[in-house]
Amino acid sequence: MTLPEVTTAFTSLKTATEILKAIMALNKNAAINEKIIDLQQIILSLQASASDFHTKYQELVKAKDDIEKKLMDYQNWEVIKSQYKLVQMTSGVFIYVPNENHPSPKPNHYLCTNCYEKMRKSLLQIKKLYGTGYGEYFCPECRMGIEFNADSFKE
Ligand SMILES: [Zn+2]
Repeated sequence: MTLPEVTTAFTSLKTATEILKAIMALNKNAAINEKIIDLQQIILSLQASASDFHTKYQELVKAKDDIEKKLMDYQNWEVIKSQYKLVQMTSGVFIYVPNENHPSPKPNHYLCTNCYEKMRKSLLQIKKLYGTGYGEYFCPECRMGIEFNADSFKE
């Protein structure tokens, strides 16, 4: 996106250059033509400055867009985060489970603590069942495995 002000500046500088060329064509005084050449150098310098300004402006716009996206991600995460609570699944093994404020806790599910800390909602999946209520979950995102025993799991 080009700023209209920058476009106007480029157009004005180009027009000024053309006017100076026309003056030089009409004028035969060497001293005046020398000053016109000086003015043309200044105009070239202004064009370069306007171009640099525009490049920096575009970088700032991109940085602003990135920050707005991060803020939006953070705000979305805060909503998700408010829907879960940390519980101890078995001794020393923690997971996140839907809390009482979760709008739709069914079907019940568990979140990976590793991904949760990185602001990612990753549902744990069953990898192996060793027996009724005893097996291993895994996180499809970070591949972390968690052994569980449903009998010892109290939310
Ligand atoms: Zn994970």
